[in-house]
Amino acid sequence: MTTPVRVRFAPSPTGPLHIGGVRTALYNYLFARQHGGQFILRIEDTDQNRYVPGAEEYIIESLDWCGIKFDEGVTGGGPYGPYRQSERKEQYRPYAEQLVRDGKAYYAFDTPAELEKEREEQKKISPDAFQYDSKTRLRLKNSLTLTAGEVKRRLDAGEPYVIRICIPADQVVKLTDIIRGDVSVHTNILDDKVLFKSDGMPTYHLANVVDDHLMKITHVIRGEEWLPSAPMHVLLYRYLGWEDTMPQFAHLPLLLKPDGNGKLSKRDGDRLGFPVFPLKWTDPASGEVSSGYREAGYLPEAFINFLAMLGWNPGVEQELFNFGELASIFSLERVHKAGAKFDFEKAKWFNQQYIKKLPDPFLAGLLSKALVPHGIEAGHEYLEKVCGLIKERITFLNDLWDYSCYFFEDPRVFDQETIRKRWKPETPGIIASLAAELEAVDFSAPDLLEGIFHQFLEKNSLGTGAAMSPLRLVVTGKAGGPGMFEIMHLIGKESTLRRMHGYRFE
Ligand code: GLU
Repeated sequence: MTTPVRVRFAPSPTGPLHIGGVRTALYNYLFARQHGGQFILRIEDTDQNRYVPGAEEYIIESLDWCGIKFDEGVTGGGPYGPYRQSERKEQYRPYAEQLVRDGKAYYAFDTPAELEKEREEQKKISPDAFQYDSKTRLRLKNSLTLTAGEVKRRLDAGEPYVIRICIPADQVVKLTDIIRGDVSVHTNILDDKVLFKSDGMPTYHLANVVDDHLMKITHVIRGEEWLPSAPMHVLLYRYLGWEDTMPQFAHLPLLLKPDGNGKLSKRDGDRLGFPVFPLKWTDPASGEVSSGYREAGYLPEAFINFLAMLGWNPGVEQELFNFGELASIFSLERVHKAGAKFDFEKAKWFNQQYIKKLPDPFLAGLLSKALVPHGIEAGHEYLEKVCGLIKERITFLNDLWDYSCYFFEDPRVFDQETIRKRWKPETPGIIASLAAELEAVDFSAPDLLEGIFHQFLEKNSLGTGAAMSPLRLVVTGKAGGPGMFEIMHLIGKESTLRRMHGYRFE
């Protein structure tokens, strides 16, 4: 029998969730669903200095908006809880002490000032930065260099300490990453990372390995920034005697700036005008507000489809996939090794495609809400018809009002460019005679109006351009939009003629 798949998303609540983090959660979720496995949300909050109030709630709300659901985790609980590391604090110390007893870790008492001095000294003699490792540890203040009695005295006296992993010299650590293949690292480049601190808290490295083991995680799917730590994690599994059940690793490629190399950052979003967070975020310290996809008018399904394709290739031409389809065709093997360039135009395209597919009654409900701030109420049937006409053209849900306002009120603002290009000295006369023509017409069908319009052009020897753009301008205020005769039919004769007579450009 194969072990059931168990994967986890393990964010640290140090700020808002970046879209790269959402993608990591998504790939974990799709992988779990595909294998009929479990998906766990674990909050890694052992670094108290970096804790940001509200970040955990933000992460949960974001994933909820995206439709990424957990089988176990901080909100719903589960058999391997608690799922917040600060609440599991007591579990880690015994493992750290076991490692010390087994000679795989040691106590270190060097003060921050002493370590700083080491760094300064190192700078003078070599371009390589100082590392606490097999070359330096034997001249530093730790349980490998101090006597057992001295170590005990310091611990009993409550002196601050850390427990560091003892990375062996001259070895090669190998691991097989599902995305990257075989990875091997020489231990001489690794440093003796801190595993545990005297405040009783483990660091990320120890807590992560211990929890992945205790929570029976089978696959660790996470961002590429953790690849350099993976060999050390492999050593920890080995030292703790858990190598047989060690999870498989898959390190996901970075999301890159749209216009260059390097990781996509909030600054890129600010600079190029797109959000890098799923929801709006207000920084509790500075009060600075960052925009979010939800507030920008994205549909979660479109956002998810777009994110899924950033760094993963479905192997077919098709680009639009719902959650179920994504789960059935997703594969870690087809995740790219190279970073994925963020493409905001593509994000918009996805949103457009999804808005187009929304049923008219659903969009009508949203439109009805969008009308409230404008003090407008309209019947559902009318709203549905309006949505049917405009939905092909909308990129963001927030565009609903802009694209539909003239169905509810006479235009007050007129497209300046159309006025400049299309409004000729003879145009008012053309609009007036067309209005006169329409007086006698029944507005019951768009075709009928179209027929009359073309007869009018012929009778007056006019090209379509001479009348169509000006007609659209006075009736809607816009340069473009859905079929003009559909619009006239829907708003009706009275409104159309009133606008054809009453327009006034600033
Ligand atoms: N807490 C880590 C983070 O914030 C999790 C890394 C991992 O998944 O192992 O990214």
